[in-house]
Amino acid sequence: MRTPIIAGNWKMYKTTGEAIALLNELKPLVRDIKGVEIVVAPVFTVLNSVKEMLVGSPIKLSAQDCYWEKEGAYTGEVSPQMLVDVGCSHVIIGHSERRQYFGEIDDSVNKKLKAAVQAGLKVIFCIGETLVERESGKTWDILAQQINGGLADFHQDLLVHVIIAYEPVWAIGTGKTASEEQAQEAHAFIRNVIKDLYSSPTSESIRILYGGSVKPENIKGLMAQKDIDGALVGGASLKAESFAAIACFEGK
Ligand code: PEP
Repeated sequence: MRTPIIAGNWKMYKTTGEAIALLNELKPLVRDIKGVEIVVAPVFTVLNSVKEMLVGSPIKLSAQDCYWEKEGAYTGEVSPQMLVDVGCSHVIIGHSERRQYFGEIDDSVNKKLKAAVQAGLKVIFCIGETLVERESGKTWDILAQQINGGLADFHQDLLVHVIIAYEPVWAIGTGKTASEEQAQEAHAFIRNVIKDLYSSPTSESIRILYGGSVKPENIKGLMAQKDIDGALVGGASLKAESFAAIACFEGK
């Protein structure tokens, strides 16, 4: 039984006041939801305020990235230990926007992933193909390459701390969602790559989220797919009502 996760990636939105206002609206809306893990990933600068707001709430706190060193002369970076210190339980790593705009590559994803798990964080490990890659028939090669690269020398026992997010880049923030069939096909493929890399029980227990224009209108159909275990939500996580409606998808 894989417990579903609905995670909200707030990207570079929300000042402290705006984050507090969002959570004041969100908390009562999700208070009675059972059987779903809810995670929010604000910007670094509001993590502390959000953590205080989440005391006594089942909503978990994630960061959107981290560096792989514990401390040092790395101006502008934040370590996994610092995220734990501020109250994070999760961190997103390898988001396509990091890959696209900030030079993130599989090797740095791999280092970050290992460091984050060693520090005690759960990692939401993002992978996904671009439109050009999909249209040129490279989707499966790209996904396999990102999984193999991100998880290079990563021990099977630590995989319980990893959640994979399949986010086709062409569906992020574009309003274009992968169809339920396209998403399920990719998730089944990813589970199979994990099976080949590790084992069948590991592949059956790892959670794979879908991300890319998830909305209250499409979450139910996506969650009905056998290999979809939740969603990483961008735009629709910035409003309490839409994020709560996604988290309230019925049953699985
Ligand atoms: C994301 O940022 O991970 C994402 C999926 O964004 P959106 O839901 O806006 O497409």
